[in-house]
Amino acid sequence: MKQRVFGAAGVEVPVIGQGTWNVALAGAGRKAALRALRLGIELGMTHIDTAEMYGSGAVEDLVAEAIAGVDRARLFLASKVLPENASYRGTREAAHRSLTRLRTEYLDLYLLHWPGSHPLEETMRALESLVADGTARFVGVSNFDAPEMEEAASYLSGVPLVCNQVLYHLCERGVEHRLISQARRDNVAVVAYTPFGRGEFLRAAAGRAVLEGVARKHAATPRQIALAFLVREPNVFTIPKASSEAHVRENAGAADIALDDDDIGAIDAAFSRGRPRPLATL
Ligand code: NAP
Repeated sequence: MKQRVFGAAGVEVPVIGQGTWNVALAGAGRKAALRALRLGIELGMTHIDTAEMYGSGAVEDLVAEAIAGVDRARLFLASKVLPENASYRGTREAAHRSLTRLRTEYLDLYLLHWPGSHPLEETMRALESLVADGTARFVGVSNFDAPEMEEAASYLSGVPLVCNQVLYHLCERGVEHRLISQARRDNVAVVAYTPFGRGEFLRAAAGRAVLEGVARKHAATPRQIALAFLVREPNVFTIPKASSEAHVRENAGAADIALDDDDIGAIDAAFSRGRPRPLATL
């Protein structure tokens, strides 16, 4: 699995990790989700993204089961605080609840899930304090547009803002106008969430034909090409969620695809960026 430096964190992280939103929490679906996550880890998709919001904490319990027995140092475990909990004290307490559910000693990355009503400065100070006491190695934000990302970074004094996790897929490329380049300038890793959108990139016949053409050239699948396109910039990572081993293998395989200028030009023409606009979120 290809890795690259994760912004100012300075550590290598796989370009393709694993999302965990909406994983099945019971029965056969849960077992399949656990198998999928474990296979992903074996294949090097060790950046695992979760949040206190997912399943109201139950997804963090599932992640704990998936990572049990894995050398902790191999993992890059990310979780997020809900904006409603993001007061100074609330952020710290939420992080410790996540640690308990994840049955781990520390988080690699802890993010504010989206901007909320608690003063941002307070949240950022709390995140910084979590790095200072070893609860989290690195901190960042999610769903922050370019100016808000800059503001968030300005409230950190002793640690860098290492990440902004944002909606980014072939049919939603607004972050390419400013956010990704600003993040690159500021040494912030951009993590593309919902990289497949709702599958709409495969529904438009013309766009699909382009992806199929590029896929044939690389002996790959259209979904792998879609992921490879998102991570073509050196500060972008992605975290597709998959609950079957076949999907995990397919997604992991995208990391090794190097698109050339012709491929990128063809995809670029088929899936317009559109005009600059405020950050889209789910
Ligand atoms: P996604 O990863 O774009 O898509 C997930 C869907 O794609 C699932 O239905 C999955 O099916 C399917 N899929 C995955 N790999 C596939 C493959 N190779 N072939 C066919 N289908 C495939 O959407 P997402 O879960 O919304 O986003 C990914 C992660 O980003 C989340 O899980 C979460 O960790 C994070 N996220 C963060 C935010 C935020 O606000 N920060 C918001 C949304 C998501 P199966 O499950 O059946 O494999």
